[in-house]
Amino acid sequence: MGMLFLIVEDDKQIRKFINFSLRSQDYNCIEAATGKEAMKCISTKDPAAIILDLGLPDMDGIDIIKQVREFSNIPIVVVSARDQDNEKVEALDAGADDYLTKPFSINELLARIRVVLRHSSSNKKEEASVVYKVADLEINLEKHKVTIEGQEIHFTPMEYNVLTLLVRNSGKVLTHKYILKKVWGSYLDSDVQSLRVFMANIRRKLEKNPAKPRYVFTEVGIGYRFTEE
Ligand code: CA
Repeated sequence: MGMLFLIVEDDKQIRKFINFSLRSQDYNCIEAATGKEAMKCISTKDPAAIILDLGLPDMDGIDIIKQVREFSNIPIVVVSARDQDNEKVEALDAGADDYLTKPFSINELLARIRVVLRHSSSNKKEEASVVYKVADLEINLEKHKVTIEGQEIHFTPMEYNVLTLLVRNSGKVLTHKYILKKVWGSYLDSDVQSLRVFMANIRRKLEKNPAKPRYVFTEVGIGYRFTEE
């Protein structure tokens, strides 16, 4: 028996599609069509992750996230329509781990789930690995040293803090607000512009072609995502 996932979605066709996709990868699924059913499944079935549609007939998906986060760190991947960036940001800031935009492919869904499961299991360990390697980039979190193709790259302390936050959460989207709160210690809407400047500097140092990034991706209107591999 594979891992158990809860699919919360009132659209039957989408719900069945997700269920079918996950079962084809040897995951088990339970389905809920309403927020009330979802809350009941979460407390009685103890799923390993939740795939959550935000637009439910009886409850706002964001309220489900808030309620769940009061007692559980279970990974939550939100499913949302393309034109609802505000909703996605709100869901992520309420404690969702990542999001998918409808319509999405099976591969996107599986990639998001892999990442949130990896992060939820690595949180249980004492500390993630000290040396992070992806492609030509190597970051030694203990020595505060960043190299590309063996060449050391210098970052200001603030840039380094932003970079390592992204790296520690690789594959996951981080909202502007989350990054600012973690690195600056506070959040103002007006700080988002300074964050953009920091990201531009980080990219200039990191990317061969900042217009076609290899490592740091912009999620327009939401935040940033460091490459998973
Ligand atoms: Ca819906």
